[in-house]
Amino acid sequence: MWRRPPGDQSLGGRVALVEWVMDFDPEALPIPALGLRCRNCGYLLDLLPDHRCPECGWRFTIDDLLPPGDFPLVAMDGSPVLLTPDVAAILKAARILHLLYNGPLEAVYGLPGSINGRQWFRVPRNDLLYVVHLLRNRDQLPRPQVTGPDWGCINCRESNPGTFAVCWSCGSDRPTPDDYRRV
Ligand SMILES: [Zn+2]
Ligand SMILES: [Zn+2]
Repeated sequence: MWRRPPGDQSLGGRVALVEWVMDFDPEALPIPALGLRCRNCGYLLDLLPDHRCPECGWRFTIDDLLPPGDFPLVAMDGSPVLLTPDVAAILKAARILHLLYNGPLEAVYGLPGSINGRQWFRVPRNDLLYVVHLLRNRDQLPRPQVTGPDWGCINCRESNPGTFAVCWSCGSDRPTPDDYRRV
C-alpha cells in the first residue's frame, strides 16, 4: 500500500513510501533472535525452545525482558540505536510512532541522548520488539524505489510514479495492461 504523507514534496509532491507489515510474534517459540538476555544472569535467549533461562532457571514472560516504561528506549545488543535517516525511514514505512530520547526524564539522569547530532529514540512498549526485529532484518525490508515509468490512474487520471502500486490521489489499484485496453 502506498501512501502520500502530507507535506512531503519529493517526487514532485509525491513520495515513494512503501508501507508494510512484517509478520512477527514476539511470543513465538523458539524465542525470536532479538538479542534478548536473561535479566538474572545475562544469558543470550535467542532461539530457546521455552521461556526459561537454561543457565539460571528463571522462568520469564517476554514482557519481563523489556525495559520499564510505556516508551522504552530502542536498544540492540545492549546499545541504544541512533535515529539515522535509514532507521527513520524504516519506522515511517512501518508506521511506528517514535519519540526522541531527550525529554525531561533523560535530563534528570543526565544522559547524553545524542551522538553527532543523531538522537536515540523511544517507541511504544508494544512495538519495541517489532522495531528491534525490523532493524535486525533491515537488509530484507522492502525499500522505496523511484525508478520505472509513470502510470496514469484510470479512476482519477492522476499520474503516478512507476513504483506506486496504488494511486496516491484516490487509492485505486494500479491498472493492468488489460485495464488500459478496456478504457
Ligand atoms: Zn538466566
Ligand atoms: Zn487515482
